[in-house]
Amino acid sequence: MHCLNVELGERSYPIVIGSQLLGDPQNLLPYIRGRQVCVVTNETVAPLYLPQLLAALADFDKVDTIELPDGEAFKTLDTVNRIFDLLLERRHNRSTTLIALGGGVVGDMTGFAAACYQRGVDFVQIPTTLLAQVDSSVGGKTGVNHPLGKNMIGAFYQPRVVLADMATLTTLPEREFSAGVAEVIKYGLICDETFFCWLEGNISRLMARDPQALAYAVDRSCRDKAAVVAEDERESGRRAILNFGHTFGHAIEAVQGYGAWLHGEAVAAGMVMAAELSRLRGAIDAGLIDRIRVLLEAARLPQAAPAGMLTGEFLDAMAVDKKIVDGRLRLVLLRALGDAQVVDDTPKALIEQALRHCGA
Ligand code: NAD
Ligand code: MG
Repeated sequence: MHCLNVELGERSYPIVIGSQLLGDPQNLLPYIRGRQVCVVTNETVAPLYLPQLLAALADFDKVDTIELPDGEAFKTLDTVNRIFDLLLERRHNRSTTLIALGGGVVGDMTGFAAACYQRGVDFVQIPTTLLAQVDSSVGGKTGVNHPLGKNMIGAFYQPRVVLADMATLTTLPEREFSAGVAEVIKYGLICDETFFCWLEGNISRLMARDPQALAYAVDRSCRDKAAVVAEDERESGRRAILNFGHTFGHAIEAVQGYGAWLHGEAVAAGMVMAAELSRLRGAIDAGLIDRIRVLLEAARLPQAAPAGMLTGEFLDAMAVDKKIVDGRLRLVLLRALGDAQVVDDTPKALIEQALRHCGA
């Protein structure tokens, strides 16, 4: 078991990474200030991991649980309201702690509920997907979707602690696991060349979910993300590099219909597109694109546009992405392996060319 700290001044908190963390009260007690807790989870994760967690919470005065329906479609204000209903009915006060047990959907909603309930109560993240462990549980973005846009309602709100338990990843469906690996590879590409090289050498161990390889990859990913977030907590600048591959990826998700490709799958193809565009601008060579493709292939992730998706569909979808500032499309591109930057001066023709090279 090891620990890293997300440095955000008085909002700093630790991320604890290990195996079989859930059932041990010592991993939780130091971070829970009151005598009341409410576990928020969903109907898929509850049967798998809730009993262990409840056993660790047995000594609290009040332990409530709410099981939400599973799925991005339920990441809504209505669902968050169900959390408030329970907290009020069961008379949770300002000293309560909300515990998110689940993937990014549960984590985002629980964090948002914690930010709002009685103007803010403590919360703890126990992410149970790889994506949640390396991405959504780090950095304090919480929120829900609105019918007019994803993640449009939310708050920056940091947890007291994050417990990333590698043992929970054993039950994760294969596609969900690969989708998390896409974000892991992203960290190597945008800010950590050494990690990218480690991934090239260890991808088969990682895909076999070797606990040590997993713990290393989660730790390194969280450190990389935490370093970026510490520099720019509220995304006014550098934090945007975390969106590498995402503008293209969002276009794929939007045109295919959300849910056809998982977010991580769309980001994987989007990273190849962004890398190709970086090559066309002269920043990186074709050899690096090949290395990215080989790694994504080993991670069972797509490396090109979905069959039949046209360059025009990409451009239209990208034009409504929230990464447009003052009418200029902002894209995250590579300057080199392990070095990304935001640019807003890429000619449309070059973007089209990159898309065509990636199957669009
Ligand atoms: P998810 O929460 O929907 O989980 C994926 C699926 O795996 C679900 O069906 C879930 O029930 C199931 N599951 C979870 N843990 C499991 C386990 N251990 N074993 C078996 N099944 C398990 O999806 P996700 O990929 O974890 O998160 C995606 C969400 O995260 C999106 O809503 C996205 O907007 C959000 N997100 C937020 C941030 C942020 O900074 N806050 C960053 C990235 C993504
Ligand atoms: Mg992402």
